[in-house]
Amino acid sequence: MSQPRKLHNFPGGVHPAGHKAESNASPIRPMPLLPRYVVPLRQHIGTPARPLVQVGDRVLKGQMIGAAEGYVSTAVHAPTSGKVTAIEPRAVPHPSGLFDEAIVIEADGEDRSIGMQPLDWRTLDPSALRNRIREMGLAGLGGAVFPSYIKLNPGASRNGASPIHTLILNGAECEPWITCDDRLMRERATQMLEGARIMGHMLGARTVIVGVEDNKPEAIAALTKALSEAEADDIEIVTVPTCYPGGGGKQLAYTLTGVEVPTGGLSTDVGIQVFNVGTAFSLYQAVMHGEPLISRVVTVTGHVGTPGNFEARVGTPISDLLAAAGGSLEGASGEIIGGPMMGFDLMDLAAPVTKAVNCVLVKSPALFPPKPEALPCIRCGACARACPVELQPFEMYWFSRARDFGKAQGYNLFDCIECGCCSFVCPSHIPLVDYYRFAKSEIWEREREKQSSDQARTRHEFKTYRLEREKQEKADKFAKAAAETKAKASTAETGDDPEAAKKKAILEAALARAAKAKEEMTAAGLKPRNVENLPPRVEQEIAEIEARRGTAVADTEAEMPKVDQ
Ligand code: SF4
Ligand code: SF4
Repeated sequence: MSQPRKLHNFPGGVHPAGHKAESNASPIRPMPLLPRYVVPLRQHIGTPARPLVQVGDRVLKGQMIGAAEGYVSTAVHAPTSGKVTAIEPRAVPHPSGLFDEAIVIEADGEDRSIGMQPLDWRTLDPSALRNRIREMGLAGLGGAVFPSYIKLNPGASRNGASPIHTLILNGAECEPWITCDDRLMRERATQMLEGARIMGHMLGARTVIVGVEDNKPEAIAALTKALSEAEADDIEIVTVPTCYPGGGGKQLAYTLTGVEVPTGGLSTDVGIQVFNVGTAFSLYQAVMHGEPLISRVVTVTGHVGTPGNFEARVGTPISDLLAAAGGSLEGASGEIIGGPMMGFDLMDLAAPVTKAVNCVLVKSPALFPPKPEALPCIRCGACARACPVELQPFEMYWFSRARDFGKAQGYNLFDCIECGCCSFVCPSHIPLVDYYRFAKSEIWEREREKQSSDQARTRHEFKTYRLEREKQEKADKFAKAAAETKAKASTAETGDDPEAAKKKAILEAALARAAKAKEEMTAAGLKPRNVENLPPRVEQEIAEIEARRGTAVADTEAEMPKVDQ
């Protein structure tokens, strides 16, 4: 028998009341078929799916109705058979409370499904398997809803081996009130472990560990039994101490391996990949039964009639889910999606269950008394001692509040996992996490603005450069034309131009003829007829003109370039 795994305590953490017993005692209940489902196109981190159907189309259960768009995206499917009655913005479970595009399906009550084909994962090419997983809409069910096919694509290290040596299945479920993973591990342990094997195979991981908090002894027993029944010891079931946020990916990886994820990095940077146990089960369903992700287990708890866990189809209106749990009790004061530490208030009960909804927690003033008014920070340091990431929460709070976001970032604001431990312990009841969320959103907004102004500046600089270049090209063109003209003129002067040479020859011949005629007249003692019998003054003028002309001709001949004969 192998040695038990050595565990490592991560810093900080808190121990809020678990409130698990309210909902974990009864088996998962299937939701009845509903008359209507609302399937949002954005159910994961990344680009929303692109609708593949139109209003009026008939669809079957499991039919892809929205295709993955771009790299970080995944598909969505019809939860039952029926007719598409609308594709329009609808209320969705999101902290913003804003509407988002969704496909509305009116169920026909027949629940007819597409033909679902299992996949032979041991022989199928890994990239083909990943593509099928993308088409089946798998995304992390632990809260981050990152498309699974990307997390299952580890690439290769420099020596060609998988860079992922350890796969961790997160069964810690450290948030109070939530028990959906606990029930899944108790009831579907065998399938979950098979899902883990498929993940390990795809990642090339040498070690596969399931980490479960010690407040879930039934789940640990069920997993151990499933492993022994399979007569396998390829997966370690490890019990970890109950401490919030022990189910944070980086915290669980540290607890189980002692390997710390560097600031700003991911667990994959140190060769560890972490998946939620619910994701492992949905992968099993997809691969072994060809079933797309059209349902998930959701905890409904708090101030409701019969708290418990429900197998709810994606698109189930939360009002129907609450009704199945006996409805909200008298005096209910609202609903939280997720747990009380990291969840958010639901704005509209018409919003549907999505892949990200793991819990609907109904509040009451007794369970969640109104928070006392925040007092000034007394610098007690309790928040820093509770922080699992070893941050300085009060410094980040101070700079976020003063809108000095650069300084807040300097205190590693973006390493904050928003676990809420600091707010939980603060004696001044300061809603610290709200300040961090505000600061992060402001920084992202400024970053977006900076990016768009950088793009505008780049565009302007390019335009200026283009105009300058065109101007220069024009100037170069003119200069070239002028140079050519000058070269032509100079060529003409040097006699290389046949036209100029011809003109010059004609002029010379005319001058020669005139000189010869003059010589002959002089030799014969003749004068031009029009100069006979002139008065002496006119004769003298003519003589002077002749003398000047003679000089001019001599000068012209002297200046004339020599023409090669
Ligand atoms: S716990 Fe609250 S009061 Fe104490 S240092 Fe932190 S923010 Fe200030
Ligand atoms: S919310 Fe952020 S700052 Fe506060 S304890 Fe958690 S990680 Fe630390």
